[in-house]
Amino acid sequence: MRRPKPRQSLTRKKRRLQEAEEIELLDSWIEAMKPASGTNPLAVTPPPPSAPAGRLPGAGGGFSPYAGCKLFSQLPISRRTKDGLARKYTEMSEIQRASLPHSLCGRDILGAAKTGSGKTLAFIIPVIEKLYKARWGPEDGVGSIIISPTKELAGQLFEELKTVGKYHTLSAGLLVGGRKDVDAEKQRVNTLNILVCTPGRLLQHMDETPNFDCSQLQVLVLDEADRILDHGFREQVDAIISQIPRVRQTLLFSATQTKSVKDLARVSLKDPEYISVHAESVTATPERLKQLAMIVPLEQKLNMLWSFIRRHLKSKILVFLSSCKQVKFVYEAFKKLRPGIPLKCLHGRMKHDVRMAIYLEFCQSTSVLFSTDVASRGLDFPAVDWVVQVDCPEDIPTYIHRVGRTARFTSDGRSVLFLTPSEKEMLKKLQSAEPKIPILSREPRKEKLEQISARLSSLLVQYPEMQQLAKRAFVTYLKSVHLQKDKEVFDVTKLPLEEFAASLGLAITPKIRFINQKKKGQKVLVEAVHEQEDGIDDSYKVANRKPQSSVKLNEEPEEDDILLPKKTIIDEEGNRDAEPGTRVLKKKKLKINVHRPVGTRLKYDEEGNIMPPLAAAIAGPESGNAVLRTDKGDRHPSLRL
Ligand code: ADP
Ligand code: MG
Repeated sequence: MRRPKPRQSLTRKKRRLQEAEEIELLDSWIEAMKPASGTNPLAVTPPPPSAPAGRLPGAGGGFSPYAGCKLFSQLPISRRTKDGLARKYTEMSEIQRASLPHSLCGRDILGAAKTGSGKTLAFIIPVIEKLYKARWGPEDGVGSIIISPTKELAGQLFEELKTVGKYHTLSAGLLVGGRKDVDAEKQRVNTLNILVCTPGRLLQHMDETPNFDCSQLQVLVLDEADRILDHGFREQVDAIISQIPRVRQTLLFSATQTKSVKDLARVSLKDPEYISVHAESVTATPERLKQLAMIVPLEQKLNMLWSFIRRHLKSKILVFLSSCKQVKFVYEAFKKLRPGIPLKCLHGRMKHDVRMAIYLEFCQSTSVLFSTDVASRGLDFPAVDWVVQVDCPEDIPTYIHRVGRTARFTSDGRSVLFLTPSEKEMLKKLQSAEPKIPILSREPRKEKLEQISARLSSLLVQYPEMQQLAKRAFVTYLKSVHLQKDKEVFDVTKLPLEEFAASLGLAITPKIRFINQKKKGQKVLVEAVHEQEDGIDDSYKVANRKPQSSVKLNEEPEEDDILLPKKTIIDEEGNRDAEPGTRVLKKKKLKINVHRPVGTRLKYDEEGNIMPPLAAAIAGPESGNAVLRTDKGDRHPSLRL
């Protein structure tokens, strides 16, 4: 990476001396200003400047020595990080102000702050600082792992890491599933210092990459921690944790934080700082977010969505549906009906490259993106005007994360949730949530509703492949409702099947096998009969699979075919068959070749070719790794932590 100009003329020795001096200074600054555990600079106002320093109620009291600090420049962080930050950021957000004083002194953090409030920097800064101060180099191997639940979010974290780490000499890599160049990645992964990854791909490297070694790991970060720690990732995360050192710093961040002591025990947090900057906040969602809910009969949902899009042709709209089959159908059908605004779709069955391209395109353009929950967590799409939840979220955290794709940082945003009459209970649950979710119920304006069922019917006649898509959308929707855990909200027997099928343009209602429950005279959905043609039974079998002894790690991404309840959600890499019990744990030590001649370290470009030292500058998200690194010169291994 390039350094700021004035430093370029310094000799390597001088630079190293300067670094050593800076690190010493930073360490003593951090030590002198150490906030007492439990203090939050946002919670109390600083004492008058005249108060004698020795009597500051810092240690043990409620006052944090960082109480007045609002700028990144006021923190004990390196010049290089400050220079990186200054390219984009000056003032800290609340979660950054509250957590950085603690994380910079090496404490574990359990951080909760609303969507869009700047949690990413709250972990990227301490990661970079910790490794910088330990004078980490390529021969030290992996110093930090940052885990994200989706590839897109991992890509975004990686971009932020490159911004803040621009002037550092650390190397970093993006390791996510679905990328084809895993072999090239294996060659380079051992020289990377910071890994930004999804759980499946990381585990693949732990299993398959020769000499892959995390035994020196300093900092583990789980972004969207509650999601990473829930059942969907359980096996993978446990396998990962079993292969990294227990003594390390652990940083967990999310907008909806896990409160499960068991979960926290799994990642062995040590006396963590519980930082919840919005705990006293009146609302759980961003204040500038205006939220609406509407009761929309199932058979009117598409009419409502179409009419909504037609009325908002100048807006950037993110639409959530509950399965990839629905996303595909609605996207293809609406595209053919030409609403007058570009349409895009995103789901876990798409190839990695396409997924990334669509994500980036949506960042840049005014369009409508139809998506599954693959886009519900963490993604920072700039300037989304509307989040439309066509299908009911499975629970309150999912609702909060979906609407959190708009009204980010200081922007405004609006959201609307469609609920079928039988899902009214969800509105009550949202309205009685603590902290509050200020969601208003609004009657849909029927006079503005454009009917598109007839147009869909003729589309299905014209394009036979649309027939199949419509059928699959129908069946997977019902199945997703059937599989939902919260039975107070989701009841498939209350849904008007024929009307729903007709609303998708289907002339005949696809057959669903029902059992008549004589006692209540009610119908209960047992199983869809379209398994083979729909291919939906994969996920169902997975949901009910028996433990297997083999570890399948090379599958293409195969995210939520349908929105399964969390305990059965398949991660986006399809690596759900990993069984920790079958794994042989590695305990290898990293070999450092202290005799290696100075200046002979190799750098690789995206194709794996050897590069000249300073050419190893930033690579794009697609290149994935070997990025932050430049030649750092000889460094004494004994300086390592
Ligand atoms: P979260 O993880 O809390 O949902 P992000 O870290 O994705 O939020 O940040 C949301 C947006 O706010 C991003 O576009 C980011 O660049 C911006 N942001 C974060 N911190 C700051 C800051 N201190 N000053 C200005 N913008 C910031
Ligand atoms: Mg985030």
